[in-house]
Amino acid sequence: MVCIVWLRRELRLNDNTALVEAAEDFDKVLPLYIIDSDIFNDNGLKPGFDRVFFWYNSLKNLIQRFRDWGGLVIRVGKPEVVLNNLVGEVDAQAIYFNSDYTPYSRKRDQKVLNFIDIEFKGFKDLVFHEKKEILTGSNTPYKVFSYYEKKWNDLEKKKPTSIADFNTLDVSDEGLPSLKELGYDEKGYDEKGSDNPLFRGGRSRGLSLLDSFKERVGSYHEFRDYPGMEWTSLLSPHLKFGTISIREAYWIDDDDSKGLNAWRRQLCWRDFYFQQLWNWPEMYKTPLKKKYTEIDWRDVNQEWDAFKKGETGFPLIDAGVRQLLETGWMHNRVRMAVASFVAKDLHLDWRVLDSFFKKHFIDFERASMTGGIHWCYSIGGDSQPYFRVFNPTKQAKKYDPEGSYIKSYIPELQMVPNEYIHKPDEMSEELQRDIGCIVGEDYPKPVLKHKERRKKAIELYESVK
Ligand SMILES: Cc1cc2nc3c(=O)[nH]c(=O)nc-3n(C[C@H](O)[C@H](O)[C@H](O)COP(=O)(O)OP(=O)(O)OC[C@H]3O[C@@H](n4cnc5c(N)ncnc54)[C@H](O)[C@@H]3O)c2cc1C
Repeated sequence: MVCIVWLRRELRLNDNTALVEAAEDFDKVLPLYIIDSDIFNDNGLKPGFDRVFFWYNSLKNLIQRFRDWGGLVIRVGKPEVVLNNLVGEVDAQAIYFNSDYTPYSRKRDQKVLNFIDIEFKGFKDLVFHEKKEILTGSNTPYKVFSYYEKKWNDLEKKKPTSIADFNTLDVSDEGLPSLKELGYDEKGYDEKGSDNPLFRGGRSRGLSLLDSFKERVGSYHEFRDYPGMEWTSLLSPHLKFGTISIREAYWIDDDDSKGLNAWRRQLCWRDFYFQQLWNWPEMYKTPLKKKYTEIDWRDVNQEWDAFKKGETGFPLIDAGVRQLLETGWMHNRVRMAVASFVAKDLHLDWRVLDSFFKKHFIDFERASMTGGIHWCYSIGGDSQPYFRVFNPTKQAKKYDPEGSYIKSYIPELQMVPNEYIHKPDEMSEELQRDIGCIVGEDYPKPVLKHKERRKKAIELYESVK
């Protein structure tokens, strides 16, 4: 009896639920990875290079890991076609996989189900609690986080399992196509990746991030909001591609410290957004607060062009965008400030920001991205009120008081004294000349007046009341 284990976004051998289950249920297990041609054909799904690079290296790493277990079969094509062919080739009785909750994966899995007539079984692996597992008293899914969180905390959390022990079979393998064959040019990436812990991916890097985070997790609650301190785990790309499992992350430690609990709370947010997207799959296209569909957002313009280059003249916003362009990642507090800026200062449609983030984030996760953007735009089930508008300068003063984060991404502001780092345009002309940073030439003047835009934003939201 043969079971194909179709690995998708869990690029690891360890603590892999579908693999463990298949090893228990079947004599032979055939691990398979499909390079989905629907994603790599240029049809709007094609990921940005930073993310692809991370994924590619993680997959390469996984192929090596699987060698000691008889190999991981790699095929390229449409999943339903590849699976159908392979089922015939090895006379498989079942396909096991770990469930995914995004609209794309649900559609893809449904296509396979329609095409193939053998057991097709999904397992919970990506999250702790999925779909409709946590419901309100009236049996509806939660829109508000705090109530969901209480129930989430009360439920038992599974521990990581050991590596599945399975027998496999010998099947021809197409091998991994090159990045060039997938439509990417990797020139220059070795230098870019060499000093960036995020770019390269792979389980061993994920494990070493997890290990080093153990030293910081105890004071996570105190320092997580300060981007200059680099205190968070940086594990989001690894959780996205499953080089580290959610159980390995949660059980990083076993004490009852404030830091660990605050960190586990973030993992709860992750589950929360997955269940929201599962229950309201349309939310990545339409706000959960329906009336905000009617907001008349502005068209993209020169301000947006300046934003995309990190040249708005608001140092925290610019540092955030430049961090993203340079590293493929952005600190959570800065993501919030940036999204709020695009919503309530630039007055641009949230889908414009979504596409920009999607292109650049290594950790792009449909559920958390939609949830995060909706929160900042005040259009989600659980978001900040529309009249709460972050002031980008005050946010910077609060969370990057000495400007260390700003200075690390905006070299032009390196010499600006701390008292002006959040408002470089207020430096005297003499000081600008002395430090070699002329505002308007070396670093831009602010592209807008926050006070005016704040007022306009509130009017915009109230216009659809
Ligand atoms: C506008 C916006 C867009 C976002 N887009 C994404 C995205 O595409 N992918 C993504 O993984 N996260 C997203 N987040 C959530 C959060 O910013 C990142 O998960 C976090 O910054 C990743 O860094 P870290 O791994 O060091 O986090 P840590 O602080 O170490 O947190 C640990 C893990 O918890 C999860 N997590 C943390 N914060 C959140 C959150 N607010 N919502 C959901 N999960 C969370 C992540 O998996 C993260 O790796 C977004 C947030 C906002 C405000």
